[in-house]
Amino acid sequence: MSAATHPDDVDLPPLAAVRARIGRAAALAGRTADAITLIAIAKTKPVEAIEPLIAQGQRVFGENRVQEAQAKWPALIAAHPDIRLHLVGQLQSNKADDAVRRFDAIHSLDRPSLLLALARAMDRAGRRVPCFVQVNIGEEPQKGGCAIGAVPDLLAQARKADVPVAGLMCVPPAGIEAAPFFALLGKIAADNGLSELSMGMSDDFEAAVMLGATHVRVGSALFGARQLSTVVSP
Ligand SMILES: *Cc1c(COP(=O)(O)O)cnc(C)c1O
Repeated sequence: MSAATHPDDVDLPPLAAVRARIGRAAALAGRTADAITLIAIAKTKPVEAIEPLIAQGQRVFGENRVQEAQAKWPALIAAHPDIRLHLVGQLQSNKADDAVRRFDAIHSLDRPSLLLALARAMDRAGRRVPCFVQVNIGEEPQKGGCAIGAVPDLLAQARKADVPVAGLMCVPPAGIEAAPFFALLGKIAADNGLSELSMGMSDDFEAAVMLGATHVRVGSALFGARQLSTVVSP
């Protein structure tokens, strides 16, 4: 399926169009759209760009930097307490306390040192925040994420540290077909008894939905393109 506009979507605002595309991809795979959480990735976008989505009913948002989230979200969440915020960017251990206080899910757990920092932060905050283990699914040296072979160990350590792991997350290599990597992430999750899959971005979320994504992370298809200089690869 291409990302081209479906004839039914021509007059839809971006949020409704993305939801319609998720719904069609889910139906093709025999799934219901409410099995898929759309995370609206608002990184680099100002509050004025976010408010219209909130007005249209969107409640789950993502950011990739703790500090940016602290600057943008407290007032919005005070006005709409049912908003849920997901962290999708690389996390430094020294920001674990802020991340645990600020976010409702963390998609970038990828190494033992961060796991221990998150465990201590969750103890201090008195709240357990569900995490996704980010897998370096293309084994790319420059990219964040746990090596595929190290996933079982990290999961075992998470269980020991009482850090809840909801599932796996990936960002496939750029410029090549993403679907095989989505399928591989699904297999690794199944092998490890995990049910949630955070995969699929603006260019490939339909394929991800057909391959079992439970969370899609969509930014530019909802908000428009980001400035190139501010794109931070995870
Ligand atoms: C920016 C980002 C997204 C959203 O990317 P789009 O291509 O704009 O949809 C998703 N996941 C992560 C980890 C990101 O950093």
